[in-house]
Amino acid sequence: MNQFPADTLIDIRKHLEEEKARLLARISELTVQDPFSDPDRTSDNAASDTEASEESNHDRVSALVNELKTQAAEVEAALSKIQDGTYGFCVECGKMIDTDRLAIHPTATMCLSCESKKKK
Ligand SMILES: [Zn+2]
Repeated sequence: MNQFPADTLIDIRKHLEEEKARLLARISELTVQDPFSDPDRTSDNAASDTEASEESNHDRVSALVNELKTQAAEVEAALSKIQDGTYGFCVECGKMIDTDRLAIHPTATMCLSCESKKKK
């Protein structure tokens, strides 16, 4: 038995797809809010005292967007693993990852023991 129970996979896939939709919505929301992504901005002679706060806001938003993009990529990778039937196996030792662990952390690519070894 080297396969995940289909029911578990269906649940995880559903969860991942919801997560992906949520992340992508959040990313586009933040990208719209970002003043630096406004194409009209270059012709905008805004008062220079607002520049600094806009800049730090931009850094904060782009850091958050990058973080969300990383998460979305992990979700995407997990979904394609489900697609080709390699989902749920540890990339280090090849063993099945505990389903309880995947329920909490569905984008995990390593089993708990390999991950804790890596952290040391
Ligand atoms: Zn492992």
